[in-house]
Amino acid sequence: MLRTLSKSSRLVQVVRSSSPATAVQVRKLNLLEYQSKELLRDSGVSVQNFAIVDDLSKTGSVLEHLRAEEYVIKAQVLAGGRGKGWFDNGFKGGVHLTKNPQAVEDLVKQMLGHRLITKQTSKDGILVQKIMVAESVNIARETYVCILMDRQHNGPVLIASPAGGMDIEAVAEKTPHLIKTLPLDIYYGIDDGIAQEVSEFLGFKDPDLQKKAMFELKNLWKLFVDIDALQVEINPLVETVERQVVAVDAKISFDDNAHFRQKDLFAIEDVSEKDPREVDASKYNLNYIGMDGNIGCLVNGAGLAMATMDIIKLNGGTPANFLDVGGNVQENQVYQAFRILSEDPKVKVILVNVFGGIVNCATIANGIIAASKNLGLKIPLVVRLEGTNVMEAKKILKESKLPILTANDLDEAAKKAVSCIKN
Ligand code: GDP
Ligand code: MG
Repeated sequence: MLRTLSKSSRLVQVVRSSSPATAVQVRKLNLLEYQSKELLRDSGVSVQNFAIVDDLSKTGSVLEHLRAEEYVIKAQVLAGGRGKGWFDNGFKGGVHLTKNPQAVEDLVKQMLGHRLITKQTSKDGILVQKIMVAESVNIARETYVCILMDRQHNGPVLIASPAGGMDIEAVAEKTPHLIKTLPLDIYYGIDDGIAQEVSEFLGFKDPDLQKKAMFELKNLWKLFVDIDALQVEINPLVETVERQVVAVDAKISFDDNAHFRQKDLFAIEDVSEKDPREVDASKYNLNYIGMDGNIGCLVNGAGLAMATMDIIKLNGGTPANFLDVGGNVQENQVYQAFRILSEDPKVKVILVNVFGGIVNCATIANGIIAASKNLGLKIPLVVRLEGTNVMEAKKILKESKLPILTANDLDEAAKKAVSCIKN
């Protein structure tokens, strides 16, 4: 389980590539380390002093502000395993320590604007646009703590290990007794009793340190609840030489369903690593899922998206993407969906597959016509509509005199779309 958890920022990609059954509507807000640490700090969790450099020229003023004995310099990307990662310019490691302020600028220069590849990124890595420069802590011991919503337990669980740090996945595999999994009651969370039990397991044995660790654990729980997190992972939560307990690395992800009450949080999302089409689509409440093929698909609902994908594949084609317009779709959203599909040079044909229930097929038809006319659609368009108000919709499409290929069922629609590409 740990393996999947610690790679959760990549979960969407993994899910997309491995299983069509979950190919749609899996979207989570993830924050960069520095954003997560700001939340931790606000909840009373101990973190190092840090500053962010997004331009080499700012390094000097950041150092002036921090004035530390030793610095840690960390690439900010939505992926873990940075310490053991490497850059496209050959530079090794996304986390560096130095006592020499002059060396900091050099380290920033090697990382900023380059792509960091880790075992959790694709082989092309992620472009580093921000660097954290922090006051380094003297680590005596690294532990692992994660609170997450777990389907298997139908609620939150706490995962802890006294052997935290960069090899936590190997710990989980080779020495599972060093990992403790504790289901939590959502109403009580981490109370004194649980905090004490976990602190002891983590190896914070003497009373003073144990008290500090308990304080951190309880604050982590408070944060987890306050922000509607799906996961708050601290790896490592360290014991310092000065006998403090500090969260040195943090990864937080959120429940998208909580968007309505966490608007401030969702507003700080750094979208620079996201597919711009996904960002574009979300502005209009549309779900965009990118794929590798050349058939652009407009559908309503995740189930229909999956069925569409299967039938396209069965007929020898591959989807370029899915735009899910959902249930209560308006004409303008159909228009925007078409715009996003037709702007994609990969898309060689558009397939509309809508099953009207709550959705009114006539709304879709009007949106299709407005988009085809205004956008000057140059690629073939195959439309299959079924359900609410379908007769009216067919009439609208027919009277538009646009060169739309219509289909009566999904199989016919998929066959027509695939043959447009082959011809
Ligand atoms: P990750 O590789 O992406 O998980 O990045 P982390 O922030 O966890 O850093 C990787 C490793 O670098 C940690 O497990 C620590 O061993 C080390 N490290 C990170 N920050 C500090 C620090 O402030 N001081 C020291 N001495 N080591 C650090
Ligand atoms: Mg880490």
